[in-house]
Amino acid sequence: MSEKPHKGQSGSIGNVSTVRSDLTMNKIELLYRALFAAFGPQHWWPAETPFEVAAGAILTQNTNWANVKKALNNLKAARALNAARLHEMPAAEIAALIRPSGYFTVKAKRLKAFVSFLIEKYRGSLKRMKSEDMQKLRKELLSVHGIGPETADSILLYALEKPVFVIDAYTKRVLSRHAILNHDESYEVFQGLFHSSLKKDVRLYNEYHALLVAVGKAFCKPRPLCEQCPLSKYLPEARR
Ligand code: SF4
Repeated sequence: MSEKPHKGQSGSIGNVSTVRSDLTMNKIELLYRALFAAFGPQHWWPAETPFEVAAGAILTQNTNWANVKKALNNLKAARALNAARLHEMPAAEIAALIRPSGYFTVKAKRLKAFVSFLIEKYRGSLKRMKSEDMQKLRKELLSVHGIGPETADSILLYALEKPVFVIDAYTKRVLSRHAILNHDESYEVFQGLFHSSLKKDVRLYNEYHALLVAVGKAFCKPRPLCEQCPLSKYLPEARR
């Protein structure tokens, strides 16, 4: 399960709605409110540029953020944290720089595939990419070697500020343990539930995903620590 990041990002939203009462809030909104009250703003995603976010989204596959940070720092020190430089750099050289992130040969190829796509389609500019329609971009990203739904949506949400909810293993674990969805449901079913339960809001999606990772890391471990967890009162009767 990958871990992700923190940054000093301004602004966060504590309430999904300021006018609705508990009775009219759906389960997804209630969980958000409880998580935000317990953990506060998570300040995602830590990066100096959108390109760094996109590279981080690829490097964070199957590893923790501390390792990703080391890999990103190596790329920065080599002045290689940009599309043009990564495009011209041999994969073996990239692999050596990103070694701390694990699966470095595979990830070097993935980074190169992403920058080839970015250069061919958007002349290397995430700013240019951002002006395109989200569904079109999502389709394009999913066709890039090594980019699956979670990575594509992380790039869309955190690098391009598009309103799409990121689903990860923590999200599936929390929702299934709360009997909201079956763990075996598809990525799209989980994502659809968030999209239909929340207003379409980039900041809300940003914060909520980060909060689910926070509760997953702190409490919703393979052996859950429900008694101390801020979501325990929302557990189904049978699990309390
Ligand atoms: S630790 Fe328990 S209460 Fe907390 S999110 Fe996981 S299942 Fe829910």
